[in-house]
Amino acid sequence: MQPSAAERRPQSFDRVLSSMCTEPHPAARRAAERFLASNPGDPATYGTIAELEREAVGALAEITGLTDAGGAADFDSSSHGYVTAGGTESNIQAVRSARERADTDDPIVVAPESAHFSFHKAASVLDVELRTVPTDGDGRADVDAVAAALDDDAALVVAVAGSTEYGRVDPIPALADLAVDAGVPLHVDAAWGGFHLPFSGHDWAFAVDGVETVTIDPHKVGRAAVPAGGLLARDPAALDALGIETPYLETASQASLTGTRSGAGVASAAAAADALWPDGYRREHERASDLAAWFADELRGRGIAVVEPELPLVAFDLPRPTFESLRERGWRLSRTGAGEARVVVMPHVTRESLSAFLDDLDERR
Ligand SMILES: *Cc1c(COP(=O)(O)O)cnc(C)c1O
Repeated sequence: MQPSAAERRPQSFDRVLSSMCTEPHPAARRAAERFLASNPGDPATYGTIAELEREAVGALAEITGLTDAGGAADFDSSSHGYVTAGGTESNIQAVRSARERADTDDPIVVAPESAHFSFHKAASVLDVELRTVPTDGDGRADVDAVAAALDDDAALVVAVAGSTEYGRVDPIPALADLAVDAGVPLHVDAAWGGFHLPFSGHDWAFAVDGVETVTIDPHKVGRAAVPAGGLLARDPAALDALGIETPYLETASQASLTGTRSGAGVASAAAAADALWPDGYRREHERASDLAAWFADELRGRGIAVVEPELPLVAFDLPRPTFESLRERGWRLSRTGAGEARVVVMPHVTRESLSAFLDDLDERR
């Protein structure tokens, strides 16, 4: 007989290789438990979680280069972003804000085909046209193709900083130049990559002129509890455009898409950033990058074709029967649209787990 739902245990992360979720940091887990019943959607009632949300957004503002380290004293983080339910809500809201502010009745969002499927949801929910353009041979946005897709109805250009399938970073400065020339805001989706990119040497967020909004998910590499996403805006007007009047709450307006939100997500995002930004996140970036390079070498040494990793995500050729047989052994592995296996080197993925995976792979080839 199954134990009751209250006694059931989650599966272990030991063999989870393709997910962008991970074990929360212990401090994030404790904070999540304490704030389970607080609703950041009602900040006048739940003041402590509202304060923690300002702290979490303040940390995300530093991570994305909206403020310098330590934050500017007069920086009001609550007018530059909020903690969303995840990358999907952040991307929908970035599109919604751009649509509200664009001067057209037929808004178009231009995105590389590598953009996350949440932009298709955004287009569907918001009744905007999503115009996807091909990537270059290496999985990054093709700047000329984006330029060719822009017209007078363009409301937003999307760049991906850490693509979900290959971990690729688009040429953001070139896309930003293009967007500025066209008078269109650039949104950067760094849902997964955002906690690696401050240390990887890329130009990717608010340091680049023309980047107006950024998605970054604390519940992925940030090691917060699910659900905790982030939406950041350079200009408070981009967030104001999302405000809806709230007649029966003490606060006058609400920008989030959801009403009642998870205090657990918000508190854990603040606690994780407190514990890990910047040194802990830097160490994790270095650890994961070294491990990804080692794993890619091991695969190549076995004669397997590997997509050279840019951020710690390794895609590689794996015949379907081998893939199926590894899944049967309990490895939680997924494939790209083109059929490669992909290993996301998340904080719970270790040299030991990847060695065990390679042993199982060797037995099956
Ligand atoms: C994971 C991811 C998303 C979606 O985020 P959720 O938190 O799953 O809603 C969006 N964009 C990118 C690039 C992602 O990696």
